[in-house]
Amino acid sequence: LIAAHDVRKSYQVGRDSVEILHGVSLGVHEQEMVAVMGPSGSGKSTLLYCLAGLEAPTSGGIILAGKPLDALSRADLARMRRSQVGFVFQSYNLIPTLTATENVALPYLLDKAKPPQDLIASTLATVGLAERADARPPSMSGGEQQRVALARVLAQQPQVIFADEPTGALDTRTGELVLAELVRIAHTPGRCVLVVTHDPKVAASCDRILFMRDGLLVRELHDASVDTVAATLAGLGSREV
Ligand code: ATP
Ligand code: MG
Repeated sequence: LIAAHDVRKSYQVGRDSVEILHGVSLGVHEQEMVAVMGPSGSGKSTLLYCLAGLEAPTSGGIILAGKPLDALSRADLARMRRSQVGFVFQSYNLIPTLTATENVALPYLLDKAKPPQDLIASTLATVGLAERADARPPSMSGGEQQRVALARVLAQQPQVIFADEPTGALDTRTGELVLAELVRIAHTPGRCVLVVTHDPKVAASCDRILFMRDGLLVRELHDASVDTVAATLAGLGSREV
């Protein structure tokens, strides 16, 4: 469902062009949950943005849900991002004046579709927010806001879900709830999840873990234990750059 070939990404910083991704190739299959780990600044978020079509890579090819991203028009890309691809951001991007329910319904309204109220209510319940459906973001905790953002993506039932630290602001119990739901969705036919995380427990729940360092994928583990993940991560971080 996701295929990337030699993806490079540079940012213009002042007069200089700085390359952040130095040629990343990867594939994520249907019914697979894959984690991306690595030190802060190694390019994890940048990679996710490119794969999701939110940033254009400087070079390289990306095929998402069967479509080569560089061949899509701006309108096609926007439509695909709303219907087939979901992105849970490191920041929550909620509208402060709308209730939780309205925030979750927003992508439907933007697509001029009727929001499925039953699905929205059950999705909010899945992430433990049934009681908070009518609350607005300013009166919610960080973890609650993160779960509204997650519910908004889940209620779209996208084929591909990208999540950047989806459990970062959650307490252990809620984090486990959210993680279990992502694993369930990832293992559904026709779907997959790619998650960036610093948490070895989250990574150990994934089928595969990709380790990034300095803009490159440097290691890959399958069905790893929490201890193996933590040891591999420590090995990456301690080396001199
Ligand atoms: P973290 O774990 O802290 O979220 P990360 O692995 O997600 O880190 P990125 O956010 O992908 O890292 O950033 C990688 C590098 O790219 C960093 O050095 C960052 O400063 C730089 N960078 C990211 N976005 C931009 C931008 N828009 N313009 C210039 N540099 C950027
Ligand atoms: Mg990041």
